[in-house]
Amino acid sequence: MVSNTSTIIEQSLDALLDDQSFLPELSGETRRKAFTSLTSILSTPNHIHKSFLRIALEDGKVTRIPAFRVQHNNIIGPYKGGIRFHESVEEEEVSNLAALMTLKNALHEVPFGGGKGGVVIDPRKFKVKELNQICRKYVQYFSQIIGPEKDIPAPDVGSGEREMDWMMGEYKSIHPGMKYRGSFTGKSVVNGGSLGRRQATGKGVYFSLRYMLHDFTKDKYKWLNERDNIFAKTVLNHKDKSLKIAIQGFGNVGSVVAAEANKCNFLNNKVVAVSDRNVTLHNSDGLDIPELIKYTKSNNGELPIDEESLEEANVKATICDRDDLLTMDTDILVMAALGGQIHQENMKQIKAKIIVEGANAPITGEADSYLSEKGIVVIPDILANAGGVIVSYFEWLQGRETQFYSEEQVYEKLYDKMQHTFETVYPQYFGDAFPLRQNCYIHSVMKLSTILFKQGKLY
Ligand code: NAD
Repeated sequence: MVSNTSTIIEQSLDALLDDQSFLPELSGETRRKAFTSLTSILSTPNHIHKSFLRIALEDGKVTRIPAFRVQHNNIIGPYKGGIRFHESVEEEEVSNLAALMTLKNALHEVPFGGGKGGVVIDPRKFKVKELNQICRKYVQYFSQIIGPEKDIPAPDVGSGEREMDWMMGEYKSIHPGMKYRGSFTGKSVVNGGSLGRRQATGKGVYFSLRYMLHDFTKDKYKWLNERDNIFAKTVLNHKDKSLKIAIQGFGNVGSVVAAEANKCNFLNNKVVAVSDRNVTLHNSDGLDIPELIKYTKSNNGELPIDEESLEEANVKATICDRDDLLTMDTDILVMAALGGQIHQENMKQIKAKIIVEGANAPITGEADSYLSEKGIVVIPDILANAGGVIVSYFEWLQGRETQFYSEEQVYEKLYDKMQHTFETVYPQYFGDAFPLRQNCYIHSVMKLSTILFKQGKLY
């Protein structure tokens, strides 16, 4: 696994190796050996499962579709992570995303390990019956390695509630008489899904920003002012300012972030640009987010692409090229589309001073280092976009207890859990100038290492 994730895991372990106050029971040669073991455990997945799903297409042809399930680590609990349906899915990326899930769950104290799945298809090119067959075959092929206490998949890019319902149904047929509700999360509410699951990631992403710029800054204003820390200066420069937000991606995550920003009374912010796979829409006075959401709901999730459709949507905006959004003159950039969007070629043109990662790994390693050196605050994926897995955990719990929470209760519990993490990592970030991503990784790695050590797995 060669990626930003594995590099930061190694850097975090190097920092901890030198810190004798961490696991003081380990010293000298024993300590060095234990840390070598830790590096290999955390940098490699426990299992990589690969299969070819044999699917009969409606035109009579038969095709074999590559599919993966990577189980990275389960020291904290059953493997957990989404199944991505995308034509670019490949083993290495799925492995990196599985590792990120292990770290994310450890950071937010969700009692799950990390896993990830992928199916190499463009789901828009398949008929509904074919997709149903793909989902059911996925469960049949991996039926022995998934389950409520083993590995619990969820939706990811290209998959959603419908696919999770089909998959749970197939799991139930294959394992008659066994507990099945907790085998998949992200299901429809009628099938045991949690209220608020669809909104959870976007709500959490916006909360990570609001908590930093409002709650934390207000509470720690004097302390932040006294810090000789470039990130503290960036945040203070944005306090009480009128903030312009641009959001890349207007799907499940991006549209909820936009709606949250639009109704937030704590920050003086407006969404001035949004983009999707086709277009960027810009209005320096602020876009009409409720109208855009209404339009996308009845237009296959897509934003208006020309003057006629803007008029139909009743929205005033300038139509720009899709990637223009990234380099627009805004204060905050929310990444809610795909991985690898800010990279070596465009990192120097980024004008936003605060970036929030709703997508997983939207910034490459080089760009991440460059942005941090410039004092740009990056609220990383591991911290910001955990709302989905946190509410998935609530879904799993509700399925187990067959007791269901109201939508308000779900959000209250979500914010409590995320706030607990922010209270741990934000003071460290503004205190010692490690980038926030590394601070979060150090925290996760400490938790995982301690458990591995206490279970006698380091030798
Ligand atoms: P989605 O499919 O609902 O929306 C994706 C959006 O991105 C769409 O508007 C699409 O048009 C747009 N898009 C695609 N390519 C683009 C491009 N090149 N430029 C601009 N926009 C582009 O997906 P989602 O559920 O909103 O997830 C978005 C990201 O967040 C994904 O990377 C996903 O892995 C990550 N994420 C999602 C969740 C969740 O619970 N949904 C949880 C954690 C992480």
